[in-house]
Amino acid sequence: MADQRDYYELLGVSRDATQEEIKRAFRKLARQTHPDVNPGDQAAEQRFKEINAAYEVLSDPQKREQYDMFGHDGPRRGAGGFGEAFGGFGDIFDVFFGGGQRRAAGPMRGSDLEYRLQISLEEAAFGAEKRITVERHEACEVCGGSGAASAASVQTCPTCRGAGQVRQVQNTLLGQVSTVTTCHRCRGRGQIVTEPCRNCQGQGYAYRTRELQVRVPPGVDTGTSIRLSGQGEAGAHGGPPGDLYVVTIVSDHPVFKRSGLEILCDVPISFTQAALGAEIQVPTLYGPETLKVPEGTQTGTTFRLPNKGMPALNGRRVGDEVVQIRVCTPTNLTEKQKDLLRQFAAAGGEKHGEDKSFWERVKEFLGS
Ligand SMILES: [Zn+2]
Ligand SMILES: [Zn+2]
Repeated sequence: MADQRDYYELLGVSRDATQEEIKRAFRKLARQTHPDVNPGDQAAEQRFKEINAAYEVLSDPQKREQYDMFGHDGPRRGAGGFGEAFGGFGDIFDVFFGGGQRRAAGPMRGSDLEYRLQISLEEAAFGAEKRITVERHEACEVCGGSGAASAASVQTCPTCRGAGQVRQVQNTLLGQVSTVTTCHRCRGRGQIVTEPCRNCQGQGYAYRTRELQVRVPPGVDTGTSIRLSGQGEAGAHGGPPGDLYVVTIVSDHPVFKRSGLEILCDVPISFTQAALGAEIQVPTLYGPETLKVPEGTQTGTTFRLPNKGMPALNGRRVGDEVVQIRVCTPTNLTEKQKDLLRQFAAAGGEKHGEDKSFWERVKEFLGS
């Protein structure tokens, strides 16, 4: 964006200049700085753009009033800064020459929005009601999105008589050539607004921050998308709004891992519990459960707790929890404990641990 010079200063008019004076000043300056008059002159081209931007605002009583009050930035994001009045050079020529092809602009559905919602594994399992804050354009509550002050200020475009297009017939060397272009006056809508809505300055929408309630159903996963119909961006020219898609992101859990409908849980047990067997308490999403660990349980042994996993999104099935045992080798033993373990080893004739088939395979491998 070029430096933002004062629009009145740019056109060389006083702040209380009449519309006629502004128009006259603009025409004079536009003629001097027009790119056709100054080919290749970058400075003139820049100035031409600035003058156009200034005229676009000051020639429109609504925009001028807003500019007088708020300056270049406009009152809020939704209203659009005045600096954005022109998207590019093409637009300037459109306005200046009153021609050019434009996309037809009837009622258009608003864009869809996406909101990423972080939830816990418990919320994914049992569902949740969440409040979210979305920022979006909403149809103006005064004019209902038409941008017009009243129904009477929406009129059939006199240029195209409501067709949205104009046909021009030209006599050329090749005969009569007929061209159809989008009506410039109404930009293809077939209607013009004679008096813009004061609430939205004729834009038809306003930028709003909204709190919404989202019902997260049980069984969602990361990437599940919940559609809130009609909660997206406002439509253009009275078109329907888009939808809001709330995409759930399930946070990592300190105890559980999820694999589809299964919940995996690593449970450490002591060396003696593993050797002698024990009843232990294991955590599940539904509260603690008692698990019987048989004697001689090895690290990596898994136990399945039916229906203690994640529910399916359609509610027809519940997965299992899979508990994987990890045997903890004792550390920081006292002298007495060490002595007992030495006695244990001597009494049991223990040489290489208990997995006989493993040591048989090692023997075979070494070729003895
Ligand atoms: Zn309005
Ligand atoms: Zn028209």
